[in-house]
Amino acid sequence: MREVVAIDGPSGAGKSTVARAVARALGWTYVDTGAMYRAVGLKADRLGVPLDDDPALEELCRHTRIEFRRDEAGEPRVFLDGEDVTQAIREHRVSDLASRVSARRPVREAMGRYQRRLGEEAPSVLEGRDIGTVIFPDARVKVFLTASPEERARRRTEELERRGQPLPYEEVLRDILARDANDSSRAHAPLRPASDAVVLDTTGLGPGEVVARIVALVRGAGPSADPMPPGRDAVTRRPG
Ligand code: C5P
Repeated sequence: MREVVAIDGPSGAGKSTVARAVARALGWTYVDTGAMYRAVGLKADRLGVPLDDDPALEELCRHTRIEFRRDEAGEPRVFLDGEDVTQAIREHRVSDLASRVSARRPVREAMGRYQRRLGEEAPSVLEGRDIGTVIFPDARVKVFLTASPEERARRRTEELERRGQPLPYEEVLRDILARDANDSSRAHAPLRPASDAVVLDTTGLGPGEVVARIVALVRGAGPSADPMPPGRDAVTRRPG
């Protein structure tokens, strides 16, 4: 079993908040895989690469460097070819770009390789859509977070408001339903819970409760799941 917590689910289910807090509680690395697809979508758009041109996207991924660093306050930041794109990739229109490039096989393969490398380097909490099904089927704990589309649209509307990019609730709900359909129906790595995932419906639940449930699952899943000091060699602590 791998020292990985896989947190999958549709957009707005609360994955980011929960995954970050779980990583902090365990002292593990947090990896936002959605940010990778957002960065690729942003770059393709800027360069005018058609979002369904597989050979061009493959070439683009080969020459793209996505890095996760922390600022002085310890907040995660995302860099695309050395440029801080943490804000830019959160723009509403980038969600659609990400959803479209993430359906392309060469993009999934390139990002999947990167995600596996990160998860192998250190005990990690990865949030995404296919972490438990495709990327780390041997993850120590797999969680599939859901919430009703209305609750997810409400959370997303509030988030956009906070970011100073307000959009009407109806439009956000429509986009969420379209993205759900896109992510669930694509041929490569469609969004679905792994057969051994714990499905948690977060409608009406506070993040604290969800985090506590997941941390308890990790701690209950094996003797080596306790917090690990940064810099320790993960391999020596992996069971089997
Ligand atoms: O999680 P987030 O909303 O930032 O992801 C943006 C888009 O990237 C999703 O709508 C989905 O299409 C795609 N994605 C994916 N696989 C992942 C993470 C995100 O296909 N592991």
